[in-house]
Amino acid sequence: MNNNEDLMSKLVALCKRRGIIFQSSELYGGINGFWDYGPKGAPLKRAVEQLWWKYMVQERDNVEGLDSTVICHPEVWRASGHLAQFSDLMTDCTECKKRFRVDQMDDPNVCPACGAHAMTPPREFNLMMKTFVGPVFDEEHAAYLRAETCQPIFVDFNTIRVASRQKLPFGIAQTGKAFRNEINPRNFTFRSREFMQMEMEFFCHESESMDWFDYWHQERWNFYTKILRIPEEKLRIHWHDKLAHYAKKALDIEYLFPFGWGEVEGVHHRGTWDMSRHAEYSKQDQACKYFDQERNETYFPTVVETSCGLDRICLMLLCNAYDEDTADTKKEGMDEDVRVVLHFDPKVAPVQVAVLPLSKKLEAPATELYKKLNNLFRAEYDVTGSIGKRYRRQDEIGTPFCVTYDFDSENDKAVTVRLRDAMTQERIPIAQLRQWLADKIWE
Ligand code: ATP
Repeated sequence: MNNNEDLMSKLVALCKRRGIIFQSSELYGGINGFWDYGPKGAPLKRAVEQLWWKYMVQERDNVEGLDSTVICHPEVWRASGHLAQFSDLMTDCTECKKRFRVDQMDDPNVCPACGAHAMTPPREFNLMMKTFVGPVFDEEHAAYLRAETCQPIFVDFNTIRVASRQKLPFGIAQTGKAFRNEINPRNFTFRSREFMQMEMEFFCHESESMDWFDYWHQERWNFYTKILRIPEEKLRIHWHDKLAHYAKKALDIEYLFPFGWGEVEGVHHRGTWDMSRHAEYSKQDQACKYFDQERNETYFPTVVETSCGLDRICLMLLCNAYDEDTADTKKEGMDEDVRVVLHFDPKVAPVQVAVLPLSKKLEAPATELYKKLNNLFRAEYDVTGSIGKRYRRQDEIGTPFCVTYDFDSENDKAVTVRLRDAMTQERIPIAQLRQWLADKIWE
């Protein structure tokens, strides 16, 4: 096993052990491509989603928010091209019965799993997940779980524009579940069948669209490097040389995962494809076009899209945070050995501060302190085990600050804050603790 495979399996094991991410329906043997976020995963995911929303919607006057349904009118997916074209070529091995995506194989004639030269001819496989709406299970009642969150944005464009009194250029953003019947889910949550997307569609005049593309390219890069603080050397831009027929420009933001470079986000110039297709299929030309008073021109808006996967971002944060060090654990009362630690940025850490009374006798004032903190921060209270063991537990879930309430605290009205990364300690007056933590977390 090479180091990177080793790292992935350690990360997967840690995620399960600490209740971050684990297989869905594990009791029944799991279901391939579906993952649950536990008590330490759900807050991480929520924190990233909130940071995205704040950065993309809340802090901008020219982007509006949406929360649409997962199931839309089936015509939406005919108009978008998903029903006709959203498919991958797959092939089966007649020896070991495994199934593969042709574009992911080195040689489509040789099975990557068992090496047999026994592959079936490639077949088209549509990735849309199908269901039925109403009591009759026939084609007339067929509907689809959305394969991307952006289509409802195009469909609702006019209603949102009118209601919010926006003029072009402006954007509409939403976060939510998307479903794809991926042939080969793999690399932990990287390729799942149910996942979260966070997308923003920016509507503008064709003549300004390339400038907006460059603008959003830069803004999204800043989100990863400045807000999530991913080191630049672990990120790269991959420009598409093969473009969708309607697209003018497209790039992926990729992260160097242990299994190689992988797409986290796409920034796409989609031309007028989406709005013109919905005009054609809905026959509601007016609702898909825009009358530009300044230009005295009616036109289909050109769309620049930013589209990222929340699950892939969480996986990126986990990979980036995971570390094993030989820190001086002896001084914290533990044996000298390898410390497993997640170096999460305090903004995304599932637990931002842990309150640890030194002794059970101090439970009353320590609980009182904990209650003062947990309405402002993601906080946890832990009284079991030696202090060294408790620190290690917090290290494994990436808690940046551990607050120890000790016997001196009663007299000096101060607590010891232990820093996860440096493993140093500072004495902070209780009266200043909330502000001290807020400064460190949101700096
Ligand atoms: P890929 O080439 O990896 O299949 P894609 O180009 O089809 O991805 P898009 O359709 O552009 O992806 O979707 C936008 C984002 O949604 C991706 O950058 C990714 O973060 C996320 N995403 C797409 N498919 C999946 C999936 N199966 N599991 C998790 N996240 C996904």
